[in-house]
Amino acid sequence: MSLTARLKERIAAQGSITVAEYMDAALSDPQDGYYMRKDPFGLEGDFITSPEISQIFGELIGLWCADIWLQMNSPEIDIIELGPGRGTLMKDFLRATCHVPNMHAQAQVHLVEMSPVLRAIQQENLSSKYPFISWHENLPADNGKPLLLIANEFFDALPIHQYLNGEERKISWQEEAFAFQDDGAGEITETCPSAQHIMQEIGNRIAKNGGAALIIDYGYEEPAKGDTLQAVYQHQYHPFLEQPGKADLTAHVNFSSLARAVSGANVAPLLTQGEFLQRMGGRVRVQQLSQNATGHEQREAIAKGFDRLIGEMGELFKVLAVTSPQVLPPVF
Ligand code: SAH
Repeated sequence: MSLTARLKERIAAQGSITVAEYMDAALSDPQDGYYMRKDPFGLEGDFITSPEISQIFGELIGLWCADIWLQMNSPEIDIIELGPGRGTLMKDFLRATCHVPNMHAQAQVHLVEMSPVLRAIQQENLSSKYPFISWHENLPADNGKPLLLIANEFFDALPIHQYLNGEERKISWQEEAFAFQDDGAGEITETCPSAQHIMQEIGNRIAKNGGAALIIDYGYEEPAKGDTLQAVYQHQYHPFLEQPGKADLTAHVNFSSLARAVSGANVAPLLTQGEFLQRMGGRVRVQQLSQNATGHEQREAIAKGFDRLIGEMGELFKVLAVTSPQVLPPVF
């Protein structure tokens, strides 16, 4: 039975569902959830992410993490990535850090991925070269070790609740389609309890064991912006309630509420992605790569890719750094 038919039955049996329930089913239903059955990235897919645009993205994140690791005096370390997509960021991260003396020898890499399709792609891209990687469905259990955690476009995929004039918004089945039970007139607010929950856990671990987290996503600081839900299919906006499982559903990340979820660890003032990449020396890396390029076209592609990351995307995407008290977050 299709996901639409199953959700329709669920509503008939149990009543209307919340936005979070709808979003959770549309993205992670084991059979038909958006992420569960296909590779959504790239030109032929639905959207493109920063690590897929330029290798410099993952490289600079790797160097940021290496700096923190050196500040901690090179301990045994857990490197954790939430929602690794195709594994491209981690591949660039690991290539960029392979000459940091001893870092890989001290590292265990943990990839947290719910999608079997994407997990297989990550394994293909990473396993043969890096045997110290393991896969998990959720954040691995706390083992007392310091951690470096990264997440790019992970938090925007977590289910949110919406409220209209303070009342939770519900979705029902009306006239052969999913529809909100309200008319949408008034003030809309959003919450993302699962994001706060994960962030709180990350903050606690960093405070207790040492280390840092780098969270990159499109989002805002309060005051909140109202309705930020969106559906994207083949690089175009798609109606949010049409054909659950077909389009990617996301909501903007409320970075103020993520920051509030952290206690005991330091939260640096937010940077834009553009500021972060430029301060990390992205331009120098563009020049370096250009010198090794094999022709004009390749040089152009390298520069264009980086320009894209610091252009419109560079403003829209923000970088949140959380660090343990004994280290300083580079460039923040
Ligand atoms: N970081 C990657 C992919 C971003 S897309 C990039 O920048 O290209 C979101 C990723 O998070 C996908 O890999 C998706 O399968 C994963 N994901 C989404 N929700 C998840 C959840 N609740 N648990 C684990 N992985 C999740």
